[in-house]
Amino acid sequence: MSTVLNSTRQWQDEDRDHHLHPFTDINVLKKKGARMITRGEGVYLWDSEGEKIIDGMAGLWCVGLGYGRKELSAAAARQMDQLAYYNTFFQTSTMPATELSGLLAEVTPEGFNHVFYGCSGSESNDTVVRLVWRYWDMRGKPGKKTIIGRINGYHGSTLAGASLGGMGFMHAQGPLPLPGFVHIEQPHWYVNGGDLSPAEYGLKAARALEEKIAELGAETIGAFIGEPIQGAGGVIVPPETYWPEIERICRANDILLISDEVICGFGRTGNWFGCETFGFEPDIMTMAKGMSSGYAPISGVMVKDHIVETIGDGGEFAHGYTYSGHPVSCAVALANITILKDEKIIDIVRTDTGPYFQKRLGEFADHPLIGEVRGKGLVGAVQIARDKKSRALFDDVGRVGGICRDHCFENGLIMRASGDSMLLSPPLVVTRAEIDEMMDKARMCLDLTARDVG
Ligand code: PLP
Repeated sequence: MSTVLNSTRQWQDEDRDHHLHPFTDINVLKKKGARMITRGEGVYLWDSEGEKIIDGMAGLWCVGLGYGRKELSAAAARQMDQLAYYNTFFQTSTMPATELSGLLAEVTPEGFNHVFYGCSGSESNDTVVRLVWRYWDMRGKPGKKTIIGRINGYHGSTLAGASLGGMGFMHAQGPLPLPGFVHIEQPHWYVNGGDLSPAEYGLKAARALEEKIAELGAETIGAFIGEPIQGAGGVIVPPETYWPEIERICRANDILLISDEVICGFGRTGNWFGCETFGFEPDIMTMAKGMSSGYAPISGVMVKDHIVETIGDGGEFAHGYTYSGHPVSCAVALANITILKDEKIIDIVRTDTGPYFQKRLGEFADHPLIGEVRGKGLVGAVQIARDKKSRALFDDVGRVGGICRDHCFENGLIMRASGDSMLLSPPLVVTRAEIDEMMDKARMCLDLTARDVG
């Protein structure tokens, strides 16, 4: 960069000319230019034009503590001064990595005592694939290599992450998924439930797993992976019957159960982990995002003791990242989790702000564009539908959601569209007054959208 960049326009030009963005249409970016976000405080962001935006998505579902927490920046600075980097390969460790591992064993459900670190949810899910394959080799069942995920599941963007996930538009840019990754339907009652009650449909959706196992043979299946609530796929909250039945089927067929807690983990649903909210006990959990409130890249795979022991019997597990257990990220995650505990933020989500958020979200049920409202804790979605009675969606799914998202963006609210579902997942520290502000803006934007689609 040779010139000094003063105006938003100059920043946008520089960005457009040199920055290849993730999940972004290059030609649209060229026309519109990126919105330059410059500052954050609590649940608010500001852009380079000084516009204040309320962040209904906590960044990418990650900024649990909100923006600008000095304890986290101080923890990073202290650690950088003390020891900016050392690795955790070849029988070494660092104090932040060790301390964080102990704290994670404390806050995760019973039986999780070991963590494997990465820098992103995608890396964690890649690690899971390696762990599952190694586990079944060590158990003398090398045929159990296939992993089952779900349509519209999202587990990351690496080759394994995108294969575990069930995003058709990502697979279409493949060849993806890679061999050995298959998918069953998502437990989306509104779209797939037909005449069944949500509870009946939850069982039916779970039994799609049983059918897939029967089709492929349990001796070929190593694991099933799912997000407790599918996030990027549209905040799909499964009926209460779903997860217990999935767990039963996994146990009956000797299949590992993996909970992808990258979004649900660290309080989003009102408990530390989504599997606690939905009452199931996974063998492996992946986590990222809320682990450090997004202040530093870090992710983890929590592994149950029986898997650790089995893999340990095989000598060195030939897998790792340069930044596994990065001391600065670990120090930030430690500070973040300590604040979550000390300020009882997850209790507040469970007993106060979460129920209030759900109550306010529920008011959208009377909106002419909204067919269904769903959510748990501080995550929720409103489903845009063409016909409330028949639950019919608009034909070109995504068009109306896109219109609504643009209205939000222009009116100082970040709300994400997944197809025609409008999503909210604010920082966990959001107050009732800020929830009111989000909901009022969301209603205004839905009204504008209804006007546009006639
Ligand atoms: N798993 C889930 C459930 C996610 O929502 C995401 C990202 O949104 C990932 C995995 C991938 O995480 P990352 O983008 O950090 O690689």
